Amino acid sequence: MKSDLHKKDLTKNVGSNYLLIPKSFARRVDWNLLGDPLRMQVVPVPDELEPIGVFDFSEERKFMKGRALIHKYPDRAVLLATNQCFGHCRFCFRKQLWNEPAWMISDSDIKIIVSYLLQHDEIKEVIVSGGDPLVLSDNHLEKLIKRLGRVPGLDLIRIASRALCFQPGRINLGLIRVLRNSKKQVWFISHFNHPAELGPETRVAAKKLIAAGIPVLSQAVLLKGINDRVEILLALFRELAGLGIKPYQLFQCDPAPGAAHFVTELSDSLKIVEKFGKVSGIILPRFALELPGYGKLSPGPGWKITRQTGSYRLVSPEGRSFRYPAAKK
Ligand code: SF4
Repeated sequence: MKSDLHKKDLTKNVGSNYLLIPKSFARRVDWNLLGDPLRMQVVPVPDELEPIGVFDFSEERKFMKGRALIHKYPDRAVLLATNQCFGHCRFCFRKQLWNEPAWMISDSDIKIIVSYLLQHDEIKEVIVSGGDPLVLSDNHLEKLIKRLGRVPGLDLIRIASRALCFQPGRINLGLIRVLRNSKKQVWFISHFNHPAELGPETRVAAKKLIAAGIPVLSQAVLLKGINDRVEILLALFRELAGLGIKPYQLFQCDPAPGAAHFVTELSDSLKIVEKFGKVSGIILPRFALELPGYGKLSPGPGWKITRQTGSYRLVSPEGRSFRYPAAKK
C-alpha cells in the first residue's frame, strides 16, 4: 500500500466517494498505524485514484427492475432500500451509489416491487440491501417488511447490513420488534472482515438479535493487506461462530473502480481457502466469486484453475469452463 501522505489531494479527489467513518468504528482504529486493518477499510489511499477497475463488474444493472430491485437469480431478488450507509467501505462494489443524491425507498417504489414479486412467485427470498437498509427508521422499515410479508410466494427476508459492525447501537428494541413481527422469517446477514471489528458493543448487539430468535450469518470480503491470511480469517470465523453467528460467505473482492487495489489474485485466494483444510464446517464459510454474466461461482476441490494472460481459466469437475480476470497490479 502506498502511504496516505497525499491526504489533502485525496480529500479533494475522492469527490463524492467521500469519507464516512462511524464513530464507534473510528474508536476501534489505531490511528498511528497506516496498516491498521480497520483504518484500511475506511480511509482512502492514492491507489483509489488509479483509473482501473470495472464499473458494475457483476453486471447487476442488466437485471434492474425499476430503480430498487435486482432480479438476477431465479429464486431471489435484491431490494435496494437506500443508497445511504453508516460508513463507506473503500472496497464497496456499489460505490457508484454514493454519487447519487441521498434516497430512501419510497411508497411508490415498494408498490412497484410488491407488484413485481406478486407476478414472480418463483422468487422465494428478498435480500433487503442497499446501501444499508438499517439507515431507514424503524417505521419505514416496518412498512417495507409488512408489505413484503403480504407476498404469498415469499419464504424469507434477508436483511443485509453492516450495522452490527458500524453502528451496533442501531440494534435496539424498536428494530428487534420490527424484525420479530415480520410475517416472513427474517435472516440477518452481517458483514465482518477482521476479528478487530468484533468489539464489545458489537457482541452485545449480536446477542440481542440471537436472543430474539433471529438467525445471524456473516459474510466477509477477501481484502489484500487486510485479511488475506489464513490465521486472520480463521480467528474471525471462530469468534463469529463463538458468538452464535454463522460465517456464511467469503467473497473474492470485485475489482470495482477505486477498489481494485484490494483485490487478491484468484490463485492466492484459492490457496488461502485450501489451507482452511479440515476445519469444522460450522466455522467455514463458502468461498464465492462473482463471474460477470454468470453470477456467483464457488470453485473448490476438483476444479482445474489455470492462469492465462490477463485471466484465469476455471474448469468445473463436470468440465464446464469459465474465465475470470486476473487482478490488476
Ligand atoms: S456498508 Fe455495504 S453498501 Fe455500504 S459501503 Fe460498506 S459494503 Fe458498501
